[in-house]
Amino acid sequence: MDTIQPFLANHHYNIARRQVDKIAQAVKHAADRKVIEALRTQAELDLAALAAESGADDAQKRELLSFRGAAEAEAFAAYKERLKQLRLPAMPLTDGLLKKLFPKAKKLKLPQADVQPGGSLTYWGWTDTATSKYHLVYGHNGRLIGMMGTFSAAKSHHVCAICKTPQAPDAIGFLSIVCKPPAQASADYFKAVGNYICLDAAACNSQLTEPDYLDYLAEQANTKWIDIG
Ligand SMILES: [Zn+2]
Repeated sequence: MDTIQPFLANHHYNIARRQVDKIAQAVKHAADRKVIEALRTQAELDLAALAAESGADDAQKRELLSFRGAAEAEAFAAYKERLKQLRLPAMPLTDGLLKKLFPKAKKLKLPQADVQPGGSLTYWGWTDTATSKYHLVYGHNGRLIGMMGTFSAAKSHHVCAICKTPQAPDAIGFLSIVCKPPAQASADYFKAVGNYICLDAAACNSQLTEPDYLDYLAEQANTKWIDIG
């Protein structure tokens, strides 16, 4: 049998995994049959839409929808293993790329291994220990974008703007990034955008289902970028 090529973006993978987890949980707790059927129908619709949005071919779509036959815990677990194989790997963030994205940063260290979970992610985010600056790298409209900002500790619970998950004060912080000045801006123009985001980018990557805040940052921030086609 031919191996199926990966095609799912990280946030799409998170959506699919979450939908199928809901069915598996309902089955495990012997929920009402109608409830389980409703979850299955919703998952089928949502995953078919993901397949279409991702430009999946017939084999890829069949594999993504192959949770349909699952009725027991083992079958759901096996499906989730197959689902992992459908994730697109993140491009390697090399020292060369980092130098281009952050030319002023000296001896910038690559994010630690735990920032790259399973080789698939939506963004890289880490604090450089030498400068205490937060670095965020994200692919947007065919460009790899590097953003740099300050990260300050939170004093209370907040919802992460990226993964929309509520976090305790020790798991979240306020990221502030300087914006691009408009074309006619005066020399002293200054504007920054900011919001609360997870401290742990790996955990955030495994939860986010919509990269809308990352898109917003990429459009607002004063960034360096590299064309990646
Ligand atoms: Zn988050």
